[in-house]
Amino acid sequence: MSPNAHTRQPRLETLAVHAGAAPDPTTGAVMTPIYQTSTYAQTDVAQHKGYEYSRTDNPTRTALQTALAALEGGRHALAFASGMAAIDTLLRLLRPGDHILSGNDVYGGTFRLFDKVLAHYGLSFSFVDTADPAAVAAALRPNTRLVWLETPTNPMLRLSDIAAIAALAHPAGAWLGVDNTFASPALQNPLALGADFVVHSTTKYIGGHSDVVGGAIVLNDTPLYEQLKFLQNAIGAVPGPMDCFLTLRGIKTLALRMAQHCRNATQVARFLADHPAVAQVIYPGLESHPQYELARRQMAGPGGMISFLLYGGAAAARTVARQTRYFTLAESLGGVESLIELPAPMTHASVADSPLAVDPGLVRISVGIESADDLIADLAQALALC
Ligand SMILES: *Cc1c(COP(=O)(O)O)cnc(C)c1O
Repeated sequence: MSPNAHTRQPRLETLAVHAGAAPDPTTGAVMTPIYQTSTYAQTDVAQHKGYEYSRTDNPTRTALQTALAALEGGRHALAFASGMAAIDTLLRLLRPGDHILSGNDVYGGTFRLFDKVLAHYGLSFSFVDTADPAAVAAALRPNTRLVWLETPTNPMLRLSDIAAIAALAHPAGAWLGVDNTFASPALQNPLALGADFVVHSTTKYIGGHSDVVGGAIVLNDTPLYEQLKFLQNAIGAVPGPMDCFLTLRGIKTLALRMAQHCRNATQVARFLADHPAVAQVIYPGLESHPQYELARRQMAGPGGMISFLLYGGAAAARTVARQTRYFTLAESLGGVESLIELPAPMTHASVADSPLAVDPGLVRISVGIESADDLIADLAQALALC
């Protein structure tokens, strides 16, 4: 071990294994125990050891929050029962009359929360193409308090320039919130680029094994963290200790998994781009992606998500989605196993009649960590049928 091993800033691979993972003080257990308890004995009236009730705090959740903050290079993190719970809690920072400027290609559930739920509580929303900073500048209003974006987006994999948009939002008096689910903290750290909040659906790459639903907010600002911690406890959309444990377990291999997701997806994207049945491949790691340069500048790798269109349209898309063997036909993404879906009738059904509607022939794949050769052979046999 070099003499400065304890002073240099650890890298992501090291943080993923060690952040939040101090041996348990009672037993020395190396892995964070699942503190399956709702309450804690107090040493005297209103005297406790930092834990009084598990909606407020739980040691397994504390360990997860410490790890999440470290991965995003943030000072504070809060864990939630789902990605949607994290986003909903964050939006409670706003007040009736406030305006939110959102990307127009956000996760369908986020659009539904904004447009069908929170719009009834005095908040107003505009949906613009945040890939175009000029469109963001033009849509800012005096009462815009939050700019909200995903990069890359779901399912069109459009990128937004986080630093450029932070530089527009801040002088206008708005916070910038970035849903970093698709990139994961291994590939992109929005706080370092000027974002005020990073949100994750930890259900996806952070958990990484499709066995737990969860969400997180990561931020640097301590007064805002105190407000969000108050809201986390007041609203109560918190994850249970078992869910925190599973997410922590997933985090340990995040760096390894993301490297393999990127390698595999790059090979699969090249295969698709050369296939005669494929009309268009959308992948930030292909030179044909309109924001290939931004991807290289802003992300440490192009990620594991690919969308594509077939010459045979929606009918051919259905054939492929039904015929793959290793790509399971299912919603969600970011697990070790490969998944395939058609956004229009599946994940994006709730936005069918909105400006966010997607091409009915679009196929989205989440490329897992299996052998790229096996994944390509699987897609080849399915594509041969259309
Ligand atoms: C899945 C997802 C969400 C919602 O997260 P849940 O954990 O399903 O509540 C939000 N944003 C993005 C980009 C997602 O993929």
